[in-house]
Amino acid sequence: MLRWQQAEGKRHALNAKLAPRPGDSFRALCGEEVFVEREDVVALGGQWLAGTCWDCDAVWRKRENIPQFTS
Ligand SMILES: [Zn+2]
Repeated sequence: MLRWQQAEGKRHALNAKLAPRPGDSFRALCGEEVFVEREDVVALGGQWLAGTCWDCDAVWRKRENIPQFTS
């Protein structure tokens, strides 16, 4: 399934059954390989303050057939 995960200062998306854990790295939908820190995991007290990765957002929308924002 597609899910969001903050990593390396951005909220990226990935396709995975389980959420990544601290110490994991994952290949985001945008193609970046990013590393997850403890403070990136909400279940462990982290806060998602990072901005959305719009490249991941675009790939997600394409896969799910969600229209792009038009501004
Ligand atoms: Zn991304």
